Amino acid sequence: MASDSRKIIIIAAPSGSGKTSITRFLLQKYPALSLSISAATRKPRGEEKDGVHYHFISEEDFKHKIEENAFVEWEMVYEGSYYGTLKAELERIWNLGKTPILDIDVKGAIHLQDQFPNRCLSIFIEPPSVAELKKRLESRGTETPESLANRVNKASYELSFKNHFHKNILNDDLERACSETEQVIKEFLGW
Ligand code: 5GP
Repeated sequence: MASDSRKIIIIAAPSGSGKTSITRFLLQKYPALSLSISAATRKPRGEEKDGVHYHFISEEDFKHKIEENAFVEWEMVYEGSYYGTLKAELERIWNLGKTPILDIDVKGAIHLQDQFPNRCLSIFIEPPSVAELKKRLESRGTETPESLANRVNKASYELSFKNHFHKNILNDDLERACSETEQVIKEFLGW
């Protein structure tokens, strides 16, 4: 496969913006897209499984992989928790003839698109407001008061980077946001 046919789709958004729902919709509809499974040092939540949602690894292993240059990008997304995209994971997906979709944080997304300017599509999913985002995170019931505050603060910060992305999609209506994201991706991949 020619190297420039190896495209990357990045979907970034503050936590609670609906990017996971949008990503799930795309993956169900298009088998030629494949979710890039990141490495992460946080503990699995609820039903999460190792190798499916993340490669859950220790901080020691994560740091070792940084030294080995195994990541295309990595960030300490939340205090004490590292997340990173493995080169081997992108290779695995490209070797299947598929296009990886990366659900990563805003800083990681910006680093990555700087590295692959010609074959990256970066999409920023914008929540209707920070207040709405807080409501969504509360109703998800997975956050402690501290982690909720952490995510809400980070969301405001991340929103200030939205203009660094190729496309911004407002998620005030999930169905419409899914269909707009789908159109943008189809155009990018020439489908
Ligand atoms: P969560 O802990 O809710 O699963 O994810 C927290 C945040 O980490 C989300 O915004 C998610 O997009 C981001 N994230 C997941 N994997 C990666 C990664 O490989 N790199 C970066 N930079 N962020 C990631």
